[in-house]
Amino acid sequence: MKKLFKAVKEKRTVIYIVLLIIAEIVILLNISLIDINTKKVVNPQFTDGNLKIIMIDVGNADSFLLLQNDKALLVDAGYFTTYSAIEEVLEENNVKKIDYAIITHPHRDHAGGLFKLVYNYRIDNLYMSNVGRMTITERLFYISMMGVLKYQNMFSNNIVKNNEGFKDFKFGDSYIKFLLLPEGDYEKLNNYSIVFKLIYGNNKILFTGDMEEINEKELLENGVDVSADILKVAHHGSSTSSSEEFLKAVNPKYALVSSGNGNANQFGHPVKRVVNFFKEHEVIMYRTDQLSTVELECDGKDIYFCKEPGDYKSGKEYLAAKLESKKYKLANINQ
Ligand SMILES: [Zn+2]
Repeated sequence: MKKLFKAVKEKRTVIYIVLLIIAEIVILLNISLIDINTKKVVNPQFTDGNLKIIMIDVGNADSFLLLQNDKALLVDAGYFTTYSAIEEVLEENNVKKIDYAIITHPHRDHAGGLFKLVYNYRIDNLYMSNVGRMTITERLFYISMMGVLKYQNMFSNNIVKNNEGFKDFKFGDSYIKFLLLPEGDYEKLNNYSIVFKLIYGNNKILFTGDMEEINEKELLENGVDVSADILKVAHHGSSTSSSEEFLKAVNPKYALVSSGNGNANQFGHPVKRVVNFFKEHEVIMYRTDQLSTVELECDGKDIYFCKEPGDYKSGKEYLAAKLESKKYKLANINQ
């Protein structure tokens, strides 16, 4: 039994190393990064003071583009397979380079798009979270990603930080304040999510990555001011996050939920308990599963959304209702 276990483990290690070597060769063969990072690029004036936030529909994943004056900030980069949605938004808004990118944690639904992004856009400042225990697949993904980033770093002044030397910074006329940079020994990679608040005048937006209840508790216990007008709901509205205590402390007017539509949302995000809280507390919910990409603008006082809000169905209920109406439509066509 012991021998069998050892053999399986060794086989796994060999596959793991082979995959790593392949990933690194692919990275080293791609010299287009040199162009991206040595060319001088300047962003146009995106807004005249206002802060524009775009929640990009990247399925059951996260990616937000923030624009203010001539600065662009990308929070997470979705899946590798949904990168085209990000590129479309970057092109539509005439973004020439990313001034800041914050990857809340290195899961493939938050960092997968980076593999394509770095070949197409210069990133001036990149903020990466700390990491801890990882599964083999997570580790493989992480090492390949760091390989890509290190390579990019060789040809530019980009900064890759692993939770070290993080300082709050000014973005356009806004201010980014880091609230949680987990350092402890956590069980899951989600628990290493970077949490930060964006403050523009009286508007406050809380970004939470995929942090879970354990992190929420930590924030509350440390007396961190988590109050915000807009909450990026943690972990796509999963049951692992958004404890009642935490949501009450944030006390948001608006909730942004990035969750998948159809088969992409096998987890049923957002869950009933979370949407019920928003319904009971009259928090207006915008969700990508129902509305696809959502744009909003803050003027330091008021917040304007480009779409009508979503409803308070859980991910599962929404999907079931959609399937029902599809069946109904099919039945009508067949009559
Ligand atoms: Zn996620």
